[in-house]
Amino acid sequence: MTGRRDTFYTERDRRTRQYGGHDDALERPVCIIVGSDVASTRAGQTALLALVNLATRVHRRVHLRVPTAALLAPGLVPAADLGTAAAATARAINPVIDLTTDPGATDRDGAITIGLGREVPEDLELHLGWAGGRGQLTTSYTAGIWDPTSVFGAATAAVLGATALFRAAHDQPIRGTRFNPVELAADDQAGTRDHTGPIDVGAVLVIGAGAVASALAYWARHVGTVGAGWDFVDADIVELHNTNRCMTMTAAHAGWPDGEPTNTPQTKAHATAWAVNGHAHDQWYDQWQPDHDEQRHDVVLTLANGRGVRAVVTQRGEPLLLHATTSANWTAELHRHLPDRDDCPACRLPDSTTPQMACSTGPAVPDQPDSPDAALPFLSAAAGLLLAAALADMPATAALAGRFNHWQFDLTLASPLLQPRQHPPRESCTHQLPAAVRRAVHTVRPRRWDHLDVDPS
Ligand SMILES: [Zn+2]
Repeated sequence: MTGRRDTFYTERDRRTRQYGGHDDALERPVCIIVGSDVASTRAGQTALLALVNLATRVHRRVHLRVPTAALLAPGLVPAADLGTAAAATARAINPVIDLTTDPGATDRDGAITIGLGREVPEDLELHLGWAGGRGQLTTSYTAGIWDPTSVFGAATAAVLGATALFRAAHDQPIRGTRFNPVELAADDQAGTRDHTGPIDVGAVLVIGAGAVASALAYWARHVGTVGAGWDFVDADIVELHNTNRCMTMTAAHAGWPDGEPTNTPQTKAHATAWAVNGHAHDQWYDQWQPDHDEQRHDVVLTLANGRGVRAVVTQRGEPLLLHATTSANWTAELHRHLPDRDDCPACRLPDSTTPQMACSTGPAVPDQPDSPDAALPFLSAAAGLLLAAALADMPATAALAGRFNHWQFDLTLASPLLQPRQHPPRESCTHQLPAAVRRAVHTVRPRRWDHLDVDPS
């Protein structure tokens, strides 16, 4: 069966290798150990299932040590209990994975070890915990607080844990860190403020259903959503190498259900929308939009590039545009665009056929100049998480307060972990509609957040 395994990884890991992943590092075993204290909590299950989801998109040999517990958190695939859910998630993402699941096994196979909760061995390399909206990674055992219900703290811990596993496998430096996506605060500044209710922002239009949108939908499924439904617009097809980072997508979505290309792949819109019972529209935005001219959504998220989409969306006259991106430099980034106070999406991130990959720490991408979106699973997960936290906390969202409008979350785990930035409006901008025209748009078809478009003077 070596042929099937090699064929799968050759195709699946194209973007991972492009981003600097090495086959020998991806073959190193990782061991995920769950304490019985957190296994029976919803937050602990959110952290575990997300960590398994992210780890199995890159690591090929995984040992799961999961105590018996009834399943409380929504899984990627149907399952009766937590251990089954974790193993089924791993196999759905990677049908050729080398996986062991004996909860009583003590042999660690020389693996990189990571523990969730307090009731785990104290000699593990990595430990995860969370309190409120704050997740934490430590490189030694700490008997911290393990919040039973927080989704955002648990999700953040999973992202930090997946980052640390990948870095450890590649012999890259790691430091203990803390991050709160609700507060947009890191390390000593990170408090425990949380948001516990579902995302309730009205009708959401998501343009682009790739890795960041998929992560957003994954987290939104765990947080819960209420309201008029989410529309996902994207004509692209799921390819196996997309499953290295798209949290809602399995090998089956790419047409490789058993590790071989036997089936017709689904569209990214379908493979993302299902997570929040959303509507999938298998069209490019510029094809879809003319038939939906009469419709405004409450929130518009531009999670695509190309085809001039950022400029076209700016010209809708929305009161607020939020989006998130990953970079070639190990950052996940949250962007705010309030008209006349911030620059517009097209000015901040111009479409470019030349990916900006020049960086000493980032990967070289000489052979695939057509794929500027290559990323690792935890980068896309972090970008989607920043956006999910911003939406969940509307209108108290940290990203709406103050002059900063761009946050860079550095998953090299450097210090500072989070860099806030400000981009003022550009006088040369030809995309932003004048205030009077925006008012006219809002008056004809008013929506929930139009009041955010205020005169800055
Ligand atoms: Zn502009």
